[in-house]
Amino acid sequence: MRTETKRIVVGGVPVGGGAAIAIQSMTNTDTRDVRATAAQIEGLLSAGCNIVRCAVPDMEAARALGELKRLTKAPLVADIHFDYRLAIESVRQGADKIRINPGNIGGPDRIKAVVDACRERGVPIRVGVNGGSLERELLHKYGGPTARALAESALKGAELLMSHGFEDICLSVKSSSVKKTIEAFRILAAKCDFPLHLGVTEAGTSYQGAIKNAVGIGALLCDGIGDTIRVSLTDEPVEEIRAAKAILRACGLGRGPEIISCPTCGRCRVDLITIANEVERRLEGYDADLKVAVMGCAVNGPGEAREADVGIAGGDGEGILFRAGKIIAKAPQGELVARLFSEIDDICKE
Ligand code: SF4
Repeated sequence: MRTETKRIVVGGVPVGGGAAIAIQSMTNTDTRDVRATAAQIEGLLSAGCNIVRCAVPDMEAARALGELKRLTKAPLVADIHFDYRLAIESVRQGADKIRINPGNIGGPDRIKAVVDACRERGVPIRVGVNGGSLERELLHKYGGPTARALAESALKGAELLMSHGFEDICLSVKSSSVKKTIEAFRILAAKCDFPLHLGVTEAGTSYQGAIKNAVGIGALLCDGIGDTIRVSLTDEPVEEIRAAKAILRACGLGRGPEIISCPTCGRCRVDLITIANEVERRLEGYDADLKVAVMGCAVNGPGEAREADVGIAGGDGEGILFRAGKIIAKAPQGELVARLFSEIDDICKE
C-alpha cells in the first residue's frame, strides 16, 4: 500500500498522488554545451528516464535550458545552489521544475521572487536537502547530520515556501548513509504528504552504488514510500536508469521483463553464467511484463522457477523449454536460447 501524497506535475509527468514512480537522472555534461547535453538527454530518454535534471551553475547554463527545451522532449529540472536569480532565469527559459534548498537561497524577498516566478508558470519546486549542506543550527541541535536533522531541514524549507502560499512542492533528504536516508524519508512520510523524491547520494561506483541505492530506495518503496527515484552512481548517467528500472522491478513497481536465474550448483552441466547474461542482454529490447527463467538443470529448474512465465533449463547436451512450470519442448543445448526467444515473441504477440 503506497503512502498517499499530493501530486505535482513536471513537464507533463505526474509525480505523487498514486502516479507511477517516475525515474530521474542528472546530466553530467557541461549544461552550456547544448549539443552534448541534448545528446545525453536523448540517451537517457531512450533508456527509460522520465525526468532529467541539469546543473545550473551560472546564467549561461540557465539560458542553455531554453535551447535544451527546444531540442529535446524531456521534462527538465534546473538544479540551483545559492543564487536565486539562476532559478528565476531557468523558469523563464522553460524549466519544468526547480531544485533548490530554500535555506541557502537568501532572505524572504529572494524566496518570494523564486516562488512568484514558479507560481506564474506552474513550475514545482523540490526542496532538496543533503547531509553535506545542512544548516549550522540543525547540525548543532542534533549533533551532526542525523536523519532527524535532514527531515527537519526539508520540512523547514517546505514551510518557507508555504509561507508564500506555495504548495507545489516535492521533498528529498539524501545522505550517503543508507540507514540515515531511510530513516529521514520515513520521518518525512509520517509528517507530511508532499511527494517524495528518493535517492541515496554519493553512493559510489556502479556496483557498490547500485547496491546502496537498491537497499535505500528499495526499503522505502517496499514500505509504500516514494513517488520518484534517482539512483546516484559514479558512472554514465544511463547506468542510473538501468539500475532504477531494476530496483522498481524488484519492488514489484516496474515494467518490463524480469529474469529469474539460479545460482547453479553441482547439478549444472551448462555454462549458465554466459547463457543468463545473453538472455538478460537480449531482454533489454523487450518491454512486456514477463518473468523469464534461466535454470541450470532440467530436474529441479522448472519447479524452482514455477512463477516464471517462460524459461529454459540446461541438461547434458539437451535442455528443456517450459511455461509456468510445465515442460513444453526439448531442444539441443545450442538452440535453447533461440527457442526461448521465439517462445517469448509468441507470448508477446498473444
Ligand atoms: Fe542447482 Fe538445478 Fe537448482 Fe540450478 S536449478 S541451483 S542447477 S538444482
